[in-house]
Amino acid sequence: MSLPKGIERRDLGGSDRLATRGEPVYGEPTSEGWRAWDPNRSKLGAMLETGMETGLAGSDPEAGPYTGDTVLYLGAASGTTVGHVADFAGPTYAVEFAPRPVRDLVGVAEDRPNLFPLLKDARTPESYAHVVESGVDAIVQDVATRGQADVALRNREFLREDGRLLAAIKARSEDVTREPDEVFPEVLERLEEGYEVLGTERLEPYHDDHLAVVARPR
Ligand code: SAM
Repeated sequence: MSLPKGIERRDLGGSDRLATRGEPVYGEPTSEGWRAWDPNRSKLGAMLETGMETGLAGSDPEAGPYTGDTVLYLGAASGTTVGHVADFAGPTYAVEFAPRPVRDLVGVAEDRPNLFPLLKDARTPESYAHVVESGVDAIVQDVATRGQADVALRNREFLREDGRLLAAIKARSEDVTREPDEVFPEVLERLEEGYEVLGTERLEPYHDDHLAVVARPR
């Protein structure tokens, strides 16, 4: 597995960690401008730790910062993961519908001119279609809500032809009473109405009952 440019493994806080370059966000260990990316607090971080091929290119140091993939991030919360994404990506649109975490997200964006917080509902992409450019390289989705496949299908229109959906599907958000192994195939079947699934990986031990999915639009 090759890491996108701008993500490296570094010795931080005495152990070998995934890291990006940027201002710290959540008290993570830092050194020489690099900050540790905690996979226990980030599904995308866990996907990278499991070695999944994300298709992200990252920012070429020769070309300068903020020149990497254009990313639409759904379910940004207070910016723990999307802050790392903005460290190695280009324009990064961060959708979150809860006002409280968006206040923190705005703080994360203050140090990152390529990070654009959007207080919007990911189920209504028409409400941010005038802001988000079409043809994004990747959609990263971590909404932990019922109807996760539908959210991905509704936002598919933003992806470029061979772009990537990187989604963390939380089984208990679909149905708290059912076993994850019953729920995941149903979510994948629905997703396949608009996407070709390229890979899946369970995210234990970092996140229980989550399935990571890499897919591209059909
Ligand atoms: N991705 C975040 C990170 O790693 O830093 C954590 C995300 S948390 C598991 C899920 C977030 O999705 C919550 O903040 C929730 O408010 C948000 N969310 C759920 N449904 C949403 C929707 N329809 N539109 C926008 N945000 C949504």
